Amino acid sequence: MANQLPRVAYFCMEYGLDNSFKQWAGGLGILAGDTLKGAHDNGLPMVGVGLNWKHGYTDQRIGRDGRPYDSFHDYDYPWLKDTGVTVTVQVRGNDVRAKVWLCDHFGNAPLFLLDTDLADNPESWITGQLYGGFGDQRVAQEMILGIGGVRALQALGVEVDIYHFNEGHAVLAGLELIRQKMAAGASFEDAWQATRRQVVFTTHTPVPEGNEWHPIERLLYMGANVGLTYEQLARIGGSPFNMTVAGLRLAKCANGVAQLHGETANRMWRSVEGRCEIRAITNGVHLPTWVDPRMAGPFNSLEEMWEAHMAIKRETIDFIAERTGVRLDPENLLIGFSRRAAPYKRSDLIFRYEERVRGLLEQGKIQIVFSGKAHPHDDTGKQIVHNLVTMAEQYPRSVVFIENYDMEIAAALTRGCDVWLNNPRRPQEACGTSGMKAAMNGVLNASILDGWWPEAAQHGVNGWVIGDEVVPESVAEQDERDALALYRVLLDEIVPTYYENRQKWLEMMKASIETTRERFSVDRMLREYWERLYTA
Ligand SMILES: *Cc1c(COP(=O)(O)O)cnc(C)c1O
Repeated sequence: MANQLPRVAYFCMEYGLDNSFKQWAGGLGILAGDTLKGAHDNGLPMVGVGLNWKHGYTDQRIGRDGRPYDSFHDYDYPWLKDTGVTVTVQVRGNDVRAKVWLCDHFGNAPLFLLDTDLADNPESWITGQLYGGFGDQRVAQEMILGIGGVRALQALGVEVDIYHFNEGHAVLAGLELIRQKMAAGASFEDAWQATRRQVVFTTHTPVPEGNEWHPIERLLYMGANVGLTYEQLARIGGSPFNMTVAGLRLAKCANGVAQLHGETANRMWRSVEGRCEIRAITNGVHLPTWVDPRMAGPFNSLEEMWEAHMAIKRETIDFIAERTGVRLDPENLLIGFSRRAAPYKRSDLIFRYEERVRGLLEQGKIQIVFSGKAHPHDDTGKQIVHNLVTMAEQYPRSVVFIENYDMEIAAALTRGCDVWLNNPRRPQEACGTSGMKAAMNGVLNASILDGWWPEAAQHGVNGWVIGDEVVPESVAEQDERDALALYRVLLDEIVPTYYENRQKWLEMMKASIETTRERFSVDRMLREYWERLYTA
C-alpha cells in the first residue's frame, strides 16, 4: 500500500526532533519534527530536507537587570551520518558548497541537512544562525535550503513525487524545479505548470509582518532567481517578491494549519491572482513525544487519573524549583503559559488589571509559570519577557519565569500544569499546538477562540473559552474586552472549580483527553496530508 502513496520531500527551515538537537526556533520546527516522527510511525514515504544549523537559535538568558540576553553556541552532532554528497549553489556569484548530512533516527523518514560550514567554502556562515538575519542573509539561507535541497535529493537519488514547502522559506526550491525543466527544453509557462503539479505549500502566520518578502533586485543579485528573469519572478511572487504569494502560485494546493486559520488565510490572500486553493488541515502533535505515558490510561477511576496527574505535577514543580529556585505548592492551582514572546500573544494580559488577581497571587492560590523567548531582534518581545520577570519578582511565591524556553520546558509544563492559558489577539494565532499537548495530558485549556481551540472547545466541559468571537475595531478595545473576559473565566469558573468542585474538574480532565487525543494527533494530520493535499 505504502508504495502507491506519493513520495513526499518535506522542506523546512527548522526541525524540533529532540531537545539536544538544536535545530529549531519555535512551533514551526516542532511541527516539522512531529511530522517526521509521525511519518516514521505510520510507515509513510517522506523525507525531510533542512539545514544543519551550527549555532541553532538563540540561547536566551535573563540578566541581573531582569532583561533577556542572547548568546550563540557552536553545536556539533557527531552522530549525524555523512552521505558523501555535496551540492553547489551559486550565491552572490560564489560557488558555495553544501555538504549533506543524514539524521536516520526515523528510519523510513530520513532527514537530510545541508551544511555550508566547510573549510575554504565561500559564505560558510550561511548555515550558522537560524533566523539570524532578514535581508541578504535570509535569502542565502533559503537558497541553500530550496535550491540546494532539490539538488541534494537528486544527487542522493531520492525519488520525489511531491515537494511540500512548509512555510515560505522553501519556495526557492520551486524556482529550481522550473529552471531544470527549462534547461531540458520546456518553455517557462510549461515548466511552471509542470512544477505546480509537484508542489504543495503550508502557510502559517496570519500576522502580515510574518510573511517575508524581498525586493526582486535582491533575489537577482543573490542569484536566487537561478536564471529566471525579473518579469518571471514578478509573476510568481509579485514585486516585491512575497514568499507566501510565491508559495501559493507555485503549488497545486495549499493549507492553513487550523480550520479558522484556513478561513483567515483565504481572506488574507483573496486578491492574489492565480493562487492555488487554500484548504484547512489542522496541525497535530506526536503523542509519544508529548503525552506522558502515565496519562495514557485507561484509568479505573477518576481518582486514579488524578493521582497520575499529581505525580506528574509534583515532578514539574521540582523541575521549576531546579530552574528558578522557587518551590510552588502542588496543592494549589498551577497555570502554565509558555510561548514565543510576540506582542500579539499578550503574555502579560493577565496582569492588565493586576489588582483583580493580586490577592490570589499573594496567597499562592493562583500560581503561574511562564516561559518563552523573544526573537533576538525584537525589542518589543524582549520588553514582554522583562515584564514577566518583573511580575515574578513582585510575586516571588506564585509567579515564575523559566528562561531559555525549549522542548524540555515545553514537555514539563504541558503535562504538569493544571491549566494551559492562551490569550492571543484573535485571529492571529495560526494553530497553537502547545494547547493540544496540554489537553491530551488532562491539562485544561483556558483560551481565546483562536487557532485550533474553536474546533475543540466545549466551555465548562473540556476546558474554557475566554471571550467570544467578536473582534472589536481597535486593538485597545480588544485587549480590554479580552482581559475582562479572562478575569471572569478565571475568577468565576476556574478557581472555584479547582478548589470547590474537584469532581467536576476530574470530569473535565477526562473530557479534555478524550476529545483531543485522536483528533489532534499528527497521525490524523498526516492522513489528511495524503488524502487532501498530496493527492489534491
Ligand atoms: C509545541 C511547542 C511550540 C508550539 O506551540 P505554540 O502553542 O504555538 O506556542 C513551540 N515551542 C515548543 C518548544 C513547543 O514544544
